[in-house]
Amino acid sequence: MVRELSHFIGGKSVAGTSGRFGDVFDPNTGQVQAKVPLASKSEVEAVVTNAAEAQREWAKFNPQKRARVLMKFVALVNDEMDSLAALLSSEHGKTIPDAKGDIQRGLEVIEFAIGIPHLLKGEYTEGAGTGIDVYSMRQPLGVVAGITPFNFPAMIPLWKAGPALACGNAFILKPSERDPSVPLRFAELFLKAGLPSGVFNVINGDKEAVDALLFDPRIKAVGFVGSTPIAQYIYETASANGKRAQCFGGAKNHAIVMPDADLDDVADQLVGAAYGSAGQRCMAISVAVPVGKGTADTLVEKLTARVGKLNIGKSDQDSVDIGPLVSSDAVKRINDYVQIAIDEGATVVADGRNQNIEDNDTGFFTGATLIDNVTKDMRVYKEEIFGPVLQIVRADDYEEALALPTDHKYGNGVAIFTRDGDTARDFATRVQVGMVGINVPIPVPIAYHTFGGWKASGFGDLNQHGPDSIRFYTKTKTVTQRWPGGGLKGNTNHFVIPTMD
Ligand code: NAD
Repeated sequence: MVRELSHFIGGKSVAGTSGRFGDVFDPNTGQVQAKVPLASKSEVEAVVTNAAEAQREWAKFNPQKRARVLMKFVALVNDEMDSLAALLSSEHGKTIPDAKGDIQRGLEVIEFAIGIPHLLKGEYTEGAGTGIDVYSMRQPLGVVAGITPFNFPAMIPLWKAGPALACGNAFILKPSERDPSVPLRFAELFLKAGLPSGVFNVINGDKEAVDALLFDPRIKAVGFVGSTPIAQYIYETASANGKRAQCFGGAKNHAIVMPDADLDDVADQLVGAAYGSAGQRCMAISVAVPVGKGTADTLVEKLTARVGKLNIGKSDQDSVDIGPLVSSDAVKRINDYVQIAIDEGATVVADGRNQNIEDNDTGFFTGATLIDNVTKDMRVYKEEIFGPVLQIVRADDYEEALALPTDHKYGNGVAIFTRDGDTARDFATRVQVGMVGINVPIPVPIAYHTFGGWKASGFGDLNQHGPDSIRFYTKTKTVTQRWPGGGLKGNTNHFVIPTMD
C-alpha cells in the first residue's frame, strides 16, 4: 500500500494540489512506499503568507517561553525515538542505531537552542558620551527557510530549525523529497510541544518549490545543505535576491595516517568513518593518506581484513554494518566510479559491487570498496563519490600528505592520526579545511561550536549551529539614546558629525 504524504502548513497536514508527486522508496526492497507531493509556486506562496502571520505572534513570546517549547519538543522526540528511527531508516536505508544517532545529533542542537535566551541579551554601554547610553539588540529576521539533503533527514532540519525558532523566526523546511516523513512528524511534534500554528512548516518539493522560496521577498534567510553545484546556485540566487544565505556543499575528507599512529586503532576507526551509513555522510572519510610505504602496506592489510568482515544487509537487522544506499541511481553512480578507478589504473583491493544479499535482488545495495594506489590526478580522487568507497593515496612524507587536503577543491573535514603533538598542532594550523580531527575520524563539532566547511564545501560567511547560528538568524539594531537629565549641555552646533565628547 503506497501512502500519500502531505505538506504541513499552518499547523495541519495539507494535501498537495500541484498534481506532481515524487516517489519515496524503501531502499531495502527497492519498492515505492509513498508518494510525496511536489509543491507549485502558488503552494509555496501560501505557506509563506501563513508563516509571516504566525511569526509576528511567535516573536512576541518572550525568549524563555520560546525555549520551553523547544524543551518540550526534545522530550516528545525522545518518547518516540524508536518509531522515528524505524521510519527514518525505512526511507533512508541507514541502520537503526545510526538513525537514532541522526535524531540525537539534531536534538543536541535543539538543546543548545534552549540556552539561546542567554545569547540574545545584546550589548550595552552606559555613558558612551555625555548623557548618552548605547545598546544593541538582536531581533528575528522574520520568515526563514531551510533546504536540506537526504542523508541526515532528522539532524540537518533540526540544526536549522532550532536556532531559527529560538531567535523568534518562523521556519519553512523544504526537506529532501527522498525521505520527508521524519520532518513531517517533527512538525506535528512541534505543534504538540506548544509551538503556535504556522511557525514551523514543511513544504515538500523539488526545484520549483526551492525557486519559489528563493524568489519570494518575504523569505529573509536561506540555509541550505546538499551537493556543491546546488549549494552554489542557491547561495548566488538567494544573495542576488537580497537574502542571507549559508549553503554547505559536498566533501572529500582525508585522513592522514602518520607512521607513529596505532594502526589497529586507525583501521578500526577508518572502517566506521568510511563505510558507516554506506559512506553517505558529508563528514565520511573517503581518502586515507598513509605516510611512508611501511605505514601504507600495513594499513591496507589491516583495512582489507576488516572490510572483508563487514555485514551488508537490510537496515533493520541487528547484525548489519552497512545498509542499502538511498536510490538505484546512487548504486549505479558508485559502481561506475569503481570501474573508473580501475580504468584509471588504481588497484581495487576489495570490490563491493554485485553483492549477493540473501532473498534480495531489488534493494539498493552495494558493498564496501577499498581502492589502493589512487593518485591526485585521477577523477575518483577529485570528485565526490558519496558511497562506501575508501581510497588510499600514498604519500612519501608529511608535507606531501598535508598538501593533499589543503589543495583539494573541497574543504569540509579532515583528520590526522599521530601520537606526536607537534605534528598534530602544525597540521591543525596549516591545513585548509574547516573542521579538523586529531585522532578523531569524524570531527563534527559539538552543538555549541559551529559546523562548516571551506572552499567548495561551504558558501557564506557564517556557519551552522553554535554562536554563528544566532548571528545568522537575527539582525542587530543599535540604539543611541540621550536623556536631558544626564548632564546634557546646550548643543550649539547641529552641523558637525556628533562625536562622543
Ligand atoms: P542535493 O543537492 O541533490 O539536494 C539537496 C536539496 O536540494 C534537496 O532538498 C533537493 O530537493 C534540493 N535540490 C536538488 N536539486 C535542486 C535544484 N536543481 N534546484 C534547487 N534545489 C534542488 O543533495 P543530496 O543528494 O540530497 O545530499 C547529498 C549531498 O549533500 C552530498 O554532496 C553531501 O556531501 C552533501 N552534504 C553536505 C553536508 C555539509 O554539511 N557540507 C551535509 C550533508 C550532506
